[in-house]
Amino acid sequence: GAMRHLPYFCRGEVVKGFGRGSKELGIPTANFSEQVVESFPSDISTGIYYGWACVGNGDVHKMVLSIGWNPFYKNIKKSVETHIIHTFKEDFYGEMLSIVIIGYIRPEKNFDSLEALISAIQEDIEEAKRQLDLPEHLKLKEDNFFHLPEGKIVNNH
Ligand code: ADP
Ligand code: MG
Repeated sequence: GAMRHLPYFCRGEVVKGFGRGSKELGIPTANFSEQVVESFPSDISTGIYYGWACVGNGDVHKMVLSIGWNPFYKNIKKSVETHIIHTFKEDFYGEMLSIVIIGYIRPEKNFDSLEALISAIQEDIEEAKRQLDLPEHLKLKEDNFFHLPEGKIVNNH
């Protein structure tokens, strides 16, 4: 489930999520459309992943990604949400988000408190930063995928 499909390249528009208040927690997540999510391998594991991300033709940044069950569809559909480890000046709804998913961190979990959830995500972010500094992972940051013309949806090129 988790590693077989990695690295996984994906490009798609950033759409409005379901307002779980990720931004209020200081951890905004850029959501992909249902169509893009459905293009993912159906047996890819839910959970938290790390990789690289780029908005439009901007710089490539570290990211953590969650593949989870979409509460908006009574948890029968997956959602894919990317938190880019970078501070942006503005929101980027409607822009093209390119990602490469490289590694798996952990499965989805339920938390007893908001504090526990936030600290788990902070740990995920630290783990992603460490992993992505490894030479074999840094290499993918320079992948041609991030320098292809925009607008084209390329899944797993
Ligand atoms: P939504 O429910 O609409 O996804 P969020 O609270 O998750 O709302 O915020 C996500 C939005 O925040 C993204 O679509 C993007 O426009 C913006 N954003 C700003 N900074 C980041 C970041 N570092 N990572 C991801 N999204 C960001
Ligand atoms: Mg979101």
